[in-house]
Amino acid sequence: MANTHVLKLALNSEILCEYMNVLFHTATAVGLFTVVNNSSAHSVVKISIVLFGGIIMHGILDYTPHCYPLSAKTDIFISASVIAVLHFAINSEARILLYASILGATFPDLVDLGPSMVNEHLGMNIPITDTIFPWHWQKYSGSIYNENCGVSHIHHSVVILCVFTTVMRYGLPINWGK
Ligand SMILES: [Zn+2]
Repeated sequence: MANTHVLKLALNSEILCEYMNVLFHTATAVGLFTVVNNSSAHSVVKISIVLFGGIIMHGILDYTPHCYPLSAKTDIFISASVIAVLHFAINSEARILLYASILGATFPDLVDLGPSMVNEHLGMNIPITDTIFPWHWQKYSGSIYNENCGVSHIHHSVVILCVFTTVMRYGLPINWGK
């Protein structure tokens, strides 16, 4: 599908930055990680589940009506901080599963938005193709472009609450480098 809003956004770095919503994708990745990490399945099965599940959850989040409560820099700073703390906090065997979950949850943006961002920030000229994932098409994207973000705040609160209760229920494999 050509001429999606994402492609148009790629021409405007200011709006492109607003498109990112990494924190909520990271949060769902952490929630999914805690659930799958607690299962007794083979590690290959676990990694497959978080990769595929992360992509599906990304689609649900993008499809759900949403605004962008955080600036791009704040969004990336908080997300990177969460990942960094978890990296050192959890046991080393669980790290691969955590990173697989984060990869799955951010994969659609890496594929559809990555080239535009690299061009924008690194001055490269990677060819921009049509977006692949349907939730990045204007027809299926939940992006809200007016100031009416009340429903978005509710959705974001529900996401964080669900992730929080999931992490509390299943727990993180924390051992601080031991
Ligand atoms: Zn996306």
